[in-house]
Amino acid sequence: MNIIILGPQASGKGTQAKLLSEGLGLFYFESGNFLREKAERDPRIDEIINKRGELLPDEETFNLVRDYLKEKVPTLDNFILDGYPRSLKQYQLLIDWLKEEGKKIDLAILLNISDQEAVRRLSARVVCEKCGSVYNLITNPPPGGKCQCGGNLTQRPDDRPEAIEKRLQTYHATTAPLIEVLKKDGILVEVDGERPIAVISDDLLKIVAGHGE
Ligand SMILES: [Zn+2]
Repeated sequence: MNIIILGPQASGKGTQAKLLSEGLGLFYFESGNFLREKAERDPRIDEIINKRGELLPDEETFNLVRDYLKEKVPTLDNFILDGYPRSLKQYQLLIDWLKEEGKKIDLAILLNISDQEAVRRLSARVVCEKCGSVYNLITNPPPGGKCQCGGNLTQRPDDRPEAIEKRLQTYHATTAPLIEVLKKDGILVEVDGERPIAVISDDLLKIVAGHGE
């Protein structure tokens, strides 16, 4: 079973992807950390992603993801991709390659939350100045208002409401065409992401179990 999981920031897709990967023994791939690690080792990627705040070209991201998956999951079976693909172009590159390898994406999960809820959740996010731990004042409050390491917690500039709204607009514009195609391909399942974590997780396990039938 190969799965991709989509959703706006703060939809909880990372949490759900990890739970699914643990529950079903899937290889978990998360594009944000993956690209951050690439940027740490490659000044050119660092310049594009971190200094200019831009995205890598779709082909380049695809090549990186493909090589990584080939290495980590040589069978190309039983993986879950979080944060990739996020555009129609990326999806097409991915499924064309998988097809050549005799594989496919079986299921695409879309975790929906309203923009209002995304703003509410994201603007509650704080980061430790010292160790980088992330807390959420609503869903994962720091005990005693400080990080476990004792560091001070601050809000990232890109977690302020104006910045969040801009990111959400980009998310919708990029993913709308992808979502249409996933529907047409008959692999999209939309899930309400505004429910408790355990409820969503149970729901997803049932959906995946029922999918092969
Ligand atoms: Zn800390």
